[in-house]
Amino acid sequence: MPTEIKAAPFDREERYIVLKLKRLPKDEVEYLRDCHPKAMVECVVVENDWPEYHLVWAMLEHRMAGKPVPNFNDWRRADELQQRLTAADERIDELTAPAGYCLMPTSLTAENGAKALLMGEFSVSQQHVCPECATTGEAPDDDCDICEGLGSYTQHTPISWDTMKEIYSKVVGSLAKTPNTPQ
Ligand SMILES: [Zn+2]
Repeated sequence: MPTEIKAAPFDREERYIVLKLKRLPKDEVEYLRDCHPKAMVECVVVENDWPEYHLVWAMLEHRMAGKPVPNFNDWRRADELQQRLTAADERIDELTAPAGYCLMPTSLTAENGAKALLMGEFSVSQQHVCPECATTGEAPDDDCDICEGLGSYTQHTPISWDTMKEIYSKVVGSLAKTPNTPQ
């Protein structure tokens, strides 16, 4: 009966201290070289924000487990997809508005549908005494074309598109939050 040999889980050991020359003062580089000549090893360093970082760990894990790395290109593709997912997650965080806020356009335009939505929607109402009936000194005329016998009439002046845009841009300019800005 064949015995199944299970590989021990791969442990990432702390075996090296890696210092980036560019970030060390020049005299310390020389000092460290002189102090620890026996600790110097020749190696390739893959930094953790390089695209190869996870791939290299995966390659080592596979080698230690006695398995061949299936396909380098598959790993690289998986890694790229993972990075795109992470970027998409970050984008979602950016797009999530804080409580009491929602996503709105930065300005009112015809293109974003605001013009069709708002044109003629709001007006200012003003009451006027009927100029025809007020001068007669008698009761308002029921047949009056202007007031229809009421003695006064209401004039509705639509809020202009330019005014709406000005109000909106003032609100956005003063109250909008920049995504992910600490509050
Ligand atoms: Zn009238």
